[in-house]
Amino acid sequence: MRISKLFSKTLREVPTEAETVSHQLLLRAGMISQVAAGVYSYLPLGWRVFRKIENIIRDEMDKAGGQELRMPALQPLELWQESGRDLAFGKGLFTLSDRRDRKLALGPTHEEVITQMVSHNVQSYRDLPQLLYHIQTKFRDEPRPRGGLMRVREFTMKDLYSFDTDEAGLDQSYNKMVQAYHNIYTRCGLPTLVVEADSGAIGGKDSHEFMVIAESGEDEIIYCSSCQYTANVVKAQSIKEKLPEEMPLPLEEVNTPDITTIEGLSNFLKVPQNHTLKVVFYVADGEFVIAVIRGDIEINEVKLKNILNCYELRMATETEVIEAGIVAGSASPVGISGFKVVADDSITSGTNLVAGANKPDTHLRNVNYPRDFKADIMADIALARAGERCPRCGSQLSAAHGIEVGHVFKLGTFLSEKLGAFFTNDEGISHPIVMGCYGIGLGRLLAAVIEQNHDDKGIIWPLTVAPYHIHLCSLYGEGSKVSEVAEKLYSELEAEGLEVLFDDRKESPGVKFNDADLLGIPIRVTVSPRTLKSNSVEIKWRSRKESELVPLEGIVTRLKELITD
Ligand code: ATP
Ligand code: MG
Repeated sequence: MRISKLFSKTLREVPTEAETVSHQLLLRAGMISQVAAGVYSYLPLGWRVFRKIENIIRDEMDKAGGQELRMPALQPLELWQESGRDLAFGKGLFTLSDRRDRKLALGPTHEEVITQMVSHNVQSYRDLPQLLYHIQTKFRDEPRPRGGLMRVREFTMKDLYSFDTDEAGLDQSYNKMVQAYHNIYTRCGLPTLVVEADSGAIGGKDSHEFMVIAESGEDEIIYCSSCQYTANVVKAQSIKEKLPEEMPLPLEEVNTPDITTIEGLSNFLKVPQNHTLKVVFYVADGEFVIAVIRGDIEINEVKLKNILNCYELRMATETEVIEAGIVAGSASPVGISGFKVVADDSITSGTNLVAGANKPDTHLRNVNYPRDFKADIMADIALARAGERCPRCGSQLSAAHGIEVGHVFKLGTFLSEKLGAFFTNDEGISHPIVMGCYGIGLGRLLAAVIEQNHDDKGIIWPLTVAPYHIHLCSLYGEGSKVSEVAEKLYSELEAEGLEVLFDDRKESPGVKFNDADLLGIPIRVTVSPRTLKSNSVEIKWRSRKESELVPLEGIVTRLKELITD
């Protein structure tokens, strides 16, 4: 491809709307172009990278025994109502009506469609196991699209679904996919970490995410360097230090003028924060809920949502709290009734704690569980933090930001039961098919490759996914000896099937080299009057500082070797 003919242009300025490195570089290198919030076009260079990633993924899915098929983006809303997941997706589901007023959805994922299809095609245990996948556009009305290709509303996902007769079969399919995912990321030049992931209210089964460590990542990962425990913060646990037991004392009211925060309370009464109780108000699917946790710990809303088994969980508004008759700054589980109380198990340790008194400017000393109040649900709803101790080995936990580039999930049988996907075993007895699902977002993966492979000048593509292998620069304009040699070399390389981007423009060396660094093609080959003096060209890897002069004689073979090695 000649740069003089290339549709996209490079940008010198950093676009102001782009915060993450990958977003900035994708725009500056002319790889993508925005259409609407969270909706992008891929330009020719970006699309070549996309297709290479797609081919690597397809290759690994095929090698793992996957069969590719294709399901539509347009799906009947009924199917989503049948599984009940229209509510779980909520506003994230794009819906529309056809001319006969039938409701449709633009698929955010395809478990429903494939499970229904499998229910028609699988009858007996002999038809199983199956690994079926497709690479398709998914639509999600994300509340906050961001980071260029990182979080968009229309994106391509490779989704594989596994169908087995039992849990042991599912484990095998799952392990195959985990291995295939490792291969994919390695081939894309992307080191990833496998972390324990939240599996939502329905599952409770295994789920893992593949994370790329990056400052710009939206996810937080909690990990232990000693025993390799690694989990998404929404799932992570830590040891809750036990507090020393004392003699329980009688409840005692104290005057706490204008004290409404745990910090204020702890300072005012000179008690450590871990000797206080914190109360937070939520609305879960319309029901007012009170969550209680030890004062020094934060609530993990994903854990809370799972425990409540609700579709929508949000903090109660000030008005809702007042309407519930609660004194916000001095609220307490003690003496309150008519609301569901969920407590974190941290409150079971420690005696004589301080809590609100449900009266303005008043708190209670010597609150003891379960003497003074009961919880409807007692569970772990705590947010684990760096610095706390590992639940497995007790060492100190650390935290890092990560980009979720893949998610594998043991679904079990809830969808096959809902949608009627059964098989008969060798004794003629009917069983629900045991399912798993495994997704990779292609655009997010592409962006993550840039987050991991760049410098202050631009992208540094790994050879495997680079839009072209060779960036050929001729440093003098048409008609000169240089352009004659460069033109000839370009034709020869193309004839050998090498992927070459040829900078044949009449631009200064500075402009050409800056563009080459920005576009990030792995091998730069420069032809200039200087290199021709010794009948050579200059070869420079984008990833290295030094360059070398290589004789023109045999250059095509040499470059071919570089690329295949
Ligand atoms: P997230 O937690 O980031 O919203 P998710 O857990 O909802 O993602 P899955 O349903 O597990 O996503 O989708 C599988 C993969 O699809 C993710 O690991 C990610 O790579 C990709 N993906 C999901 N949502 C988006 C999006 N809005 N934009 C780009 N890629 C996405
Ligand atoms: Mg996910």
